[in-house]
Amino acid sequence: MKYYVLFGPPGAGKGTFAKLLVETRGYYHISTGDMLRKEIAAGTPLGLEAKSLIEKGNLVPDEVVCGMIRSEFAANPGVRGFLLDGFPRTVTQAEALDKMLAEIGKELDRVVSIHITDEEVRRRIKGRALVENRADDADDEIISTRIKNYHEKTEPVINYYKAQDKYVEVEADGTIEENFKKVAALVD
Ligand code: ADP
Repeated sequence: MKYYVLFGPPGAGKGTFAKLLVETRGYYHISTGDMLRKEIAAGTPLGLEAKSLIEKGNLVPDEVVCGMIRSEFAANPGVRGFLLDGFPRTVTQAEALDKMLAEIGKELDRVVSIHITDEEVRRRIKGRALVENRADDADDEIISTRIKNYHEKTEPVINYYKAQDKYVEVEADGTIEENFKKVAALVD
């Protein structure tokens, strides 16, 4: 069983590449963002809590997302491997993930980081807002909060994985096909 993290700022294409890796390699995709949006759509208590945070561009609590990841692992034995998209987003989450995997005698294989500039983050999120109707994509101030949270809370995760020698980075400055080739080469 393989465990990969697709890492990167909002709008880097983590979800797009994860879907392509599922189609071509049969991995199981876990997106904490998608799962949270499902909870919101279903109006669950967890969804209600998450909604107010996400709509302001803030992160949901570490315990909430760690619990979701733990249950996805447990619910999907026998898959070829997991692609984590949007998780871990804090060093606390990265530590919790290591612990979770250690408990089942596993460890993370690799963190594939998809890099784009802040300017490109804004451009892509605005483009996505026209197609996907996400409240957190529609407003400049919310996008700024997400970028700020990424730099302050999520970027430190990079050094955490560099120290474990598990971090590899792709410059996503080409077409989707070109970028995907680079990402896929690091997962194969
Ligand atoms: P994007 O990559 O475009 O920012 P996601 O779909 O991954 O979008 O996440 C949307 C929102 O859901 C985030 O801005 C955050 O509020 C919340 N979220 C998703 N994953 C996590 C996580 N691992 N920890 C905390 N909050 C999360």
